[in-house]
Amino acid sequence: MSMPTPKHDPSLDQDQFLTVLSREEALARFEAALFPRDVPSQTRLLADALGCALAADVVAPIDVPPFDRSNVDGFAVRSADLAGAGEGAPVQLMLNDETIACGTAPTRPVLSGTATSIATGGPVPRGADAIVMVEHTQPAGNRAIEVRRAASPGQFVSYAGSDIARGEALLRAGTVIGSREIGMLAACGIAEVLAARRPRVAILSTGDELVQPGETLRPAAIYDTNGAIVSAAIAENGGDAHFLGAIADDEAALEAAMRRALADSDMLVLSGGTSKGAGDVSHRIIARLGAPGIIAHGVALKPGKPLCLAVCDGKPVIILPGFPTSAMFTFHDMIVPVLRRMAGLPPRADARVTAKVPVRIASELGRTEFVMVSLVEGSEGLIAYPSGKGSGAITSFAQADGFLKIDALADQMPAGSETDVTLFTPHVRVPDLVIVGSHCTGLDLVTAPLARAGLVVRSIAVGSLGGLAAAKRGECDLAPIHLFDDKTETYNTPYLSEGLELVPGWRRMQGIVFRNDDPRFAGLSAEEAVRAALADPACIMVNRNQGAGTRILIDRLLAGRRPDGYWNQPRSHNAVAAAVAQHRADWGMTIAPVAHASGLGFIPLAEEHYDFALVTARKQRPAVQTFLDALASAEGRAALTAAGFRPA
Ligand code: AMP
Ligand code: MG
Repeated sequence: MSMPTPKHDPSLDQDQFLTVLSREEALARFEAALFPRDVPSQTRLLADALGCALAADVVAPIDVPPFDRSNVDGFAVRSADLAGAGEGAPVQLMLNDETIACGTAPTRPVLSGTATSIATGGPVPRGADAIVMVEHTQPAGNRAIEVRRAASPGQFVSYAGSDIARGEALLRAGTVIGSREIGMLAACGIAEVLAARRPRVAILSTGDELVQPGETLRPAAIYDTNGAIVSAAIAENGGDAHFLGAIADDEAALEAAMRRALADSDMLVLSGGTSKGAGDVSHRIIARLGAPGIIAHGVALKPGKPLCLAVCDGKPVIILPGFPTSAMFTFHDMIVPVLRRMAGLPPRADARVTAKVPVRIASELGRTEFVMVSLVEGSEGLIAYPSGKGSGAITSFAQADGFLKIDALADQMPAGSETDVTLFTPHVRVPDLVIVGSHCTGLDLVTAPLARAGLVVRSIAVGSLGGLAAAKRGECDLAPIHLFDDKTETYNTPYLSEGLELVPGWRRMQGIVFRNDDPRFAGLSAEEAVRAALADPACIMVNRNQGAGTRILIDRLLAGRRPDGYWNQPRSHNAVAAAVAQHRADWGMTIAPVAHASGLGFIPLAEEHYDFALVTARKQRPAVQTFLDALASAEGRAALTAAGFRPA
């Protein structure tokens, strides 16, 4: 009996395909395969040049100003005539018979003992070497003025070429044309520039699960995030982005789409399908698109290991990892340098700050790890909170201020380390109010007026205990908590320590959620509902994570029993509601506003207290006071009530 021959996979012929390269090695090989190359350029009208990179230096063709120009309204004079002028020694000058307005060329010289009336911007006439401000003169009859102070030569005169000198390098190649550059070019009379042509970049998303924003989400589908975010990031870095949609995981369809995309683009960026798993086909296609093909597949980066870099007949072809955060990190770290070079732009100047990490950050040995952080102001400088929710989370990218880097050879960054943080934007805007702890949608209602007043509120969700720890270290203003103390059977107060005080927040009704059409639970009390669930072996529950206040309530109701679903322990109220709504579970415990927002049935059980541990030392800060006012205000309370919370 003969064994079936395995299908030949041409990609396996390339040995680098099997090796994970270091970040530096991968980038070096990618750049070596692409550069040097000419940056194509095109002539652009000034009005269309905004945001383009100059392809060549621009030399000033004229002097600006083109003539000696008066800076003030006054009189053009010979300074020597006024050498003896003073408070007690007025000098009279006869007025020449002309007025030099803007745009009027002078016709008469200023002879000794005379002056010519001149407007701001008027050309200085022959003979004159200074301007006297009109405020510093007195009329002396119709035909003369009196001057009571001396004038230094050149006073109030802008000389020809003093702003821009003919022949000087006005702008350098690679400069991005903004309004200021356009101003300089216009001042020299330049109507067109030679600009680098933006590389045309085709973008494809891949995956059977992807639905475009604006369309209806099918079960098990997700919205295509990478298509939009990669397109925008390409435009931000000098590319001309053409998003071509999401292609299903079908090798023939994908190959056709990739060939079409590459035919009329300078670069192709895909996302997804780069893992070496079944259904991940994009990297296999690349090997057939052109030489040299794959340069690196697998880079020692976290997030972003499955990144695939290729060059096909001179054009970069990139497959970004599917998870949006991984896609963005690898894009910024490995693709932006190449794109900017192709676009004739200088390397991006990253702004950096130094900050301290408040908690230990574990890291995988052997991979350069990027950790997104939110910055807050501590008592001795900036604190960098790791804000990542994992590489699948888009918000970890959008809400972070920047990222820190953990070396491939380190397995952690210890708490208290000082580290460089690369900022996503050129400036840090340190938040006015920092809230660290448990998140609740009610919080957004209370902070809305602060945002409207221009205050920056940073809310970092680390759970109640994490928030308390941050508050004790003085790293936040407020820590929202909902911690039940078994001994005293009270919420929150027993957890406060010196330096913290309790600000009552609101109550959240917790109860059993079920689908409205499930007859097993209709009309029952919480205890009866749990009894009914336990009586039916086909009934599946969804639990909550250990340490959650809700979990304590569930365990009490279950009194030691562990029905099917007990080990499904998501970390949020929303996940419980989603599990029930999507039939993955039949019942669970969540808060009323979440149950109602998901259209689920709800049996109330007990109220949870969501309060704030306020750092007393920060109480007088204006943003804290604004928050406390908003919390106590009639509007704040009304908004909470309308959303299903009960203000304390
Ligand atoms: P893949 O590399 O295709 O296996 O994708 C890894 C993960 O990223 C999966 O959970 C995908 O659903 C997700 N993913 C892939 N492409 C996208 C995209 N364009 N937008 C959002 N998520 C994506
Ligand atoms: Mg996929």
